[in-house]
Amino acid sequence: MLTLIKNAQVYAPEYLGDKEILICGEKILAIEESIDIRSEYLKVIDASNKIAVPGFVDSLVHITGGGGEGGYCSRTPEVNLTDLTLAGITTLVAALGTDSISRTLTGLLAKAKELNEYGLSCYIYSGSYHLPVKTLTSELQSDLMLIEECIGVGEVAISDHRSSQPSFRQLAALAADARVGGMLSGKGGVVSIHMGPGNSMFNPLYEVVNKTDIPIQQFYPTHINRNQALLDAGIEYTRCGGYIDLTTSSNSMSFSTGEIKCSKALKYYIEQGGDLSKITFSSDGHASLPEFNDKGELVSLEVGSERSLFNEVRDAVLQENVPFEEALPTITKTPADILKLTKKGRLNVGLDADINLLDKTDLMIDTVISLGQIMVENGMPVVKGRFE
Ligand code: ZN
Repeated sequence: MLTLIKNAQVYAPEYLGDKEILICGEKILAIEESIDIRSEYLKVIDASNKIAVPGFVDSLVHITGGGGEGGYCSRTPEVNLTDLTLAGITTLVAALGTDSISRTLTGLLAKAKELNEYGLSCYIYSGSYHLPVKTLTSELQSDLMLIEECIGVGEVAISDHRSSQPSFRQLAALAADARVGGMLSGKGGVVSIHMGPGNSMFNPLYEVVNKTDIPIQQFYPTHINRNQALLDAGIEYTRCGGYIDLTTSSNSMSFSTGEIKCSKALKYYIEQGGDLSKITFSSDGHASLPEFNDKGELVSLEVGSERSLFNEVRDAVLQENVPFEEALPTITKTPADILKLTKKGRLNVGLDADINLLDKTDLMIDTVISLGQIMVENGMPVVKGRFE
């Protein structure tokens, strides 16, 4: 079970130059200028004209489907394995959304286990949009401590007409539970926040941070590219030490209502002097993307695509001239750091062998390796879900 990647230009995500990478089982055994090894059990991948990068980390995917806000017919389907692998995603966090009645945490956990059986690293958030929080074991702290895949809670909705309109007390108590549960289980205990279009924006989070001892880094608010005002408020929030996440899946409707394309938002963030260790992208994959006509009637419904995650990084590099080294951490090192996934998001000796090979000229995904297993080769899936 040895794989040697030769002649790759390596971004770990920092630029390391031309290197060879040796994988043993699920781990990276060596990254060197030249590795001299001969074995009948060795598979060699020639990565000439390829860039090696860490497998992508997607901090929000609705793996059991989302949506439902337009009635039962608007419930989106479950994710397929290759929706993720062809998008270069090797690590993901799954969440429920608005619907926590017909979608359940047990279903979410089972689906995460399915993806992990195929060789991905899928984690879950306990809870949903709503407070009081629904859990698997009756308490958030015990979900974190007893369920291996559970690394936080969310996406809890604030500043949104679909939220439970949580009080300061509810939000503070939830963050406290997540924090202590995270400490006791050696996990992040992240509180993923769905940021709606409401005027209160980050105020509920500031209130918790200002009135309690909960650090601002406990929260991980997403959809911050929803509109320009929220993005500007988000930049201010990062200056206070907080993290922000931008959503890559979008359609013409979302742009017409003011959403800013992730690649452009990243460029803007950098121009404003934003700290690159505080901004990430997630796909919000398999969420519903509704399209309304002038009368506000639903005319079509699309499903958020996981492929948008890397597409936005590629667009940031190729269209917005953001340096590759600055764009890549938004879907590798930075989300792994925020989620406290210490074996993920970077290429280094001893870490998990989650590696993508990209074409040097157009940055298309050629090869995807997850925990040492080749999932995609020459842009085609090698491993498929049983019912795909
Ligand atoms: Zn959301």
